[in-house]
Amino acid sequence: MRLVLLGPPGAGKGTLAGFLNKELDIPHVSTGDILREEMKNNTPLGQEVKKYVESGGLVPDEVVIKLIKNKFSNGEVDKGYMLDGFPRTEVQAKDLDAILTILDKPVDYAVYLDASLPVVIERLTGRRICRSCSAIFHIKNNPPKKEGVCDECGGEIYQRPDDNEETIRTRMDVYLENTKPVIDYYNAQGKLKKVDADKDSQEVQENLMKIFDSTGG
Ligand code: AMP
Repeated sequence: MRLVLLGPPGAGKGTLAGFLNKELDIPHVSTGDILREEMKNNTPLGQEVKKYVESGGLVPDEVVIKLIKNKFSNGEVDKGYMLDGFPRTEVQAKDLDAILTILDKPVDYAVYLDASLPVVIERLTGRRICRSCSAIFHIKNNPPKKEGVCDECGGEIYQRPDDNEETIRTRMDVYLENTKPVIDYYNAQGKLKKVDADKDSQEVQENLMKIFDSTGG
């Protein structure tokens, strides 16, 4: 299956991607994860994007489009893909379509996780992530069994620096201005599948599987 996951920060795209990866074995591509890895390794790209990521702004389109082109050209996503955090602008969506048309691997569905601001803030301020395997925890709703240690791989758990209230509000503004049009873009193509993402992750997953079943996906 070929999917893009859309929705505001904190809507649960990463959690859903983890579930779909296990359940349907669809490769997960997160531009945010790729950028954080570059920053951690202090590569030239990591240095270039740091200021955007840390402030909650968007990395320039041409930089992320190049990253996605590389991903698609090395065959990693031949058996399907799930793009998380990309496309985030209409320019990215159109360029993605152009790349996918050449590869004959068009998007099947754009899954829109619709979540409200208070829910997003509560989720993101409590979110904790494993540095090694990117597993997602929450200090209240889903704490790791041992504080600071990942249940999945034993890695170190940390809080993303951009998961503070001020930066979350900036990311939400950026989302409303730039990413909402992407939702309209996929809606116009008849590919949008909307799910209420204020619900807990299990309900979201069940509802989405029902949608896939009813559309034969
Ligand atoms: P995420 O992990 O998806 O929340 O992304 C974290 C940050 O990485 C965002 O706030 C942006 O600064 C940057 N980023 C990730 N994906 C994109 C994208 N498709 N376009 C521009 N910036 C991005």
